Amino acid sequence: MDQIKIGNFIQEKRKEKNITQLELAERLGITDRAVSKWENGICLPDAGTMPELCSILDISINDLFSGEEVDMKNNEKKLEENLLEMTKAKEERDKQLLHLEYVVGLISIIVFIILVLLASYAPMKDWVRFVIIGVTTAAIILVAFVLLKIEQVAGYYECKHCHNKYVPTYLSVQKAMHFGRTRYMKCPKCGKKSWQKKVLK
Ligand SMILES: [Zn+2]
Repeated sequence: MDQIKIGNFIQEKRKEKNITQLELAERLGITDRAVSKWENGICLPDAGTMPELCSILDISINDLFSGEEVDMKNNEKKLEENLLEMTKAKEERDKQLLHLEYVVGLISIIVFIILVLLASYAPMKDWVRFVIIGVTTAAIILVAFVLLKIEQVAGYYECKHCHNKYVPTYLSVQKAMHFGRTRYMKCPKCGKKSWQKKVLK
């Protein structure tokens, strides 16, 4: 997706409607800085804002992604291209998220071990020892929950029986036996249990 082209298109349409950046921002319940960022091609409007933005500018979502008014003949082709690009962008983001999960997990475990060793062997008052162990344990549990959330939403799990790919609920990920990122879960489509691998596509 060409952010600069989309930005120019938003600006052009806004001016056609005789609305200022501030007015547009107010109608969307966001800051005029955000509008200016779109128009300069720095970022795209988020998904939640798009329908309202398109309705104000009198364009289709497909026009918005294409950065121009798409005629009906090209419409289907453009739509496919845009969907494909969005899928690719999600894939890339999921990949980064899973990488982040790995890095944060590793650092947390190392810090946890160092602090527990320190609290166990370094000379200090007993209450300080308890506080350090208590706080680090609470912190690592919190980190584990956050990382599990990342693992739940990034990418998909694939059923070995019917090859259905799906995003499981947080609870089912939490309860599942696992080996790395492969989890033993029930497929919502065929109902069979299997060791399901994490896939990005
Ligand atoms: Zn299945």
